[in-house]
Amino acid sequence: MDCVFCRIVSGELPCRKVLETDHVLAFYDHKPQAPVHVLVIPKRHVASILELDDPGLAGALLASVRQSAVELGLERGFRVISNVRAHGGQEVDHLHLHLVGGTRLGRMLPRWF
Ligand code: AMP
Repeated sequence: MDCVFCRIVSGELPCRKVLETDHVLAFYDHKPQAPVHVLVIPKRHVASILELDDPGLAGALLASVRQSAVELGLERGFRVISNVRAHGGQEVDHLHLHLVGGTRLGRMLPRWF
């Protein structure tokens, strides 16, 4: 298995878990771009939003974003980003939603533009 996020899901690589459901895992990004920076991923390998053809899984991912945000005290606001394929800046080819917050964010984080 050469997908780093599949290795995290299997427990082969460690992560700092935020929440886990049957189908979704949320864990802290190891190189945070904001005071709170969490990645929300499907447990099964889906390469990106372009390959996400299961509305139930899409809903489960958003529900976990919401639950993570509430558990982490981000009710004042946060941002959700998903980079898609090379031109979108995607580096890990396993779908992930970046949940960033914990401060008042600028209109966009410079790294992403
Ligand atoms: P992207 O550029 O959208 O593909 O983002 C990939 C993200 O995964 C980056 O923010 C990395 O810091 C993060 N990342 C890569 N490997 C790990 C890991 N082993 N544990 C936590 N975060 C990771």
